[in-house]
Formats: sequence, structure tokens, C-alpha cells
Amino acid sequence: MKIDRSNDNSSNTLTIDGKSVAFIKGQTILDAALEAEVYIPHLCFNPKFEPHGSCRVCMVEVNGHTHCACTTPASQNDVIKSDTREINHDRRVLLQMLFTEGNHFCPSCEKSGNCLLQSTAYELGMVSPHFSPNFPIRTVDASHPDMLIDHNRCIFCSLCVRASREIDCKNIFGISKRGSQTTLTVNSSSGRLGDTDFSSNDFAANICPVGAILHKGVGFAKPIGNRSNDITPLKTQAISGEGA
Ligand code: SF4
Repeated sequence: MKIDRSNDNSSNTLTIDGKSVAFIKGQTILDAALEAEVYIPHLCFNPKFEPHGSCRVCMVEVNGHTHCACTTPASQNDVIKSDTREINHDRRVLLQMLFTEGNHFCPSCEKSGNCLLQSTAYELGMVSPHFSPNFPIRTVDASHPDMLIDHNRCIFCSLCVRASREIDCKNIFGISKRGSQTTLTVNSSSGRLGDTDFSSNDFAANICPVGAILHKGVGFAKPIGNRSNDITPLKTQAISGEGA
């Protein structure tokens, strides 16, 4: 959440990894960090929506206790640790679990080079999945004329759910069940995307940070190697406001 500072005379500050960061009341730690060009890795956060706190990748240590940076309000004199060996290790474990719980084959994925999961893994130096892959059996829903859902790649960030509900006012998507049974659902009696009024112009059609909700027919229009995250590091995009 960007806040207009033009009429703000307060001088609240906290520190993140020793750097003094100014903030104003109402901002979260992640808001304040991004505005001060301090990168805190995150997956389910998008400044257009209320924070969700579900991916836990933005975890930081606040005055000695672990919290999500996206949901924790910034407070005066907070001492925050983010870019530490221990926290980055824990973030890598979360990413490794996401990679092995789904079916993520970056070299053949049309989202490669433009995928938040892949780029965050690069940013955090994840060099292997570490855990044995689950290889869950998931489907591809290609029933819609313009869009498809590849359930193999969903990381359950809930951005499509929030976008469809809050911006498109359609409520097309939902997330059901828990743990390894978690599923992205579609609001139609058949459960197929093609039986909803989802449109490729919907905000939700362009919000998926990974290759789970895709437009048909454009996958390789821009070659891998020339895509946004191939050219500009994720960290640079995040602190410049280009990325989420
Ligand atoms: S389909 Fe994409 S936007 Fe929706 S929950 Fe899965 S990863 Fe997130």
C-alpha cells in the first residue's frame, strides 16, 4: 500500500537489517520496506489487494519474533531482520516444498522467465528441490476458448480468487481443501472454466504469478531469455514497483 506522504509530518522509523526505514501509520513492514527500496521476498502479496499472509515467504524477524512482513503493521523503533542466513534458509525450504508439492518443470514451462516462483527461487539461491517430488496427479482445464488452467503449477496464492471477487466482481475462483489436497476450484456446476463467464480481459486473467492461469496461443510469443525476469532481476523490479 503506497501512502501519500505530502501532508505527513510524522517521523516514524524502524530498521531493517540495520538500515533506517521511515514509515507512516497504516503501513505494513513490507509496504515500508518496498517504499524504502528494501527487497523482502514474497509470493502472495500484490499491492492491489489486502495482504493475505499465506505463502509465508515474506517472513521476517521483528524484535526477535517471526512474523509475515505483509500483514504486520510497522511500529516505531521495530528492529527487523530479513536478509539473514537463517531466514533465507527457511524461505528456501518453503520454496522447495512448493516446487515438490506441485509439478513445476521450468525448462518446458511457457511462463519461464516471467514466473514469480522461479525468479524468487533464483533470488534466494535455491539450487535444488531438495525434497522428493510428490508428482501429484493434477489436470489441465482447457475448456475455455481463450484461457486455460494448468493445475500442476498452482501455488494457491489466492491472487486470482481475490482479483475475480474484488475487481471483476465475478467470484470465478476459490480454493478448497487443505494440505496436499488443496485445490483451485472454478465456480460452475461442471467445475470447468469454459462454463463460467470468465473473460481473457478480466483482471484475474492477468494476475497469476506462475504458469497456472494462461492465455491460449501466446505462450512463446516472446522467447525465453528475453522475458521480464530474464532481463531485470526480480529484486530490482520489486523495489522499483514494476513487479508485485
Ligand atoms: S491459479 Fe495462479 S493466481 Fe490463482 S491461486 Fe493458483 S497460482 Fe495463485
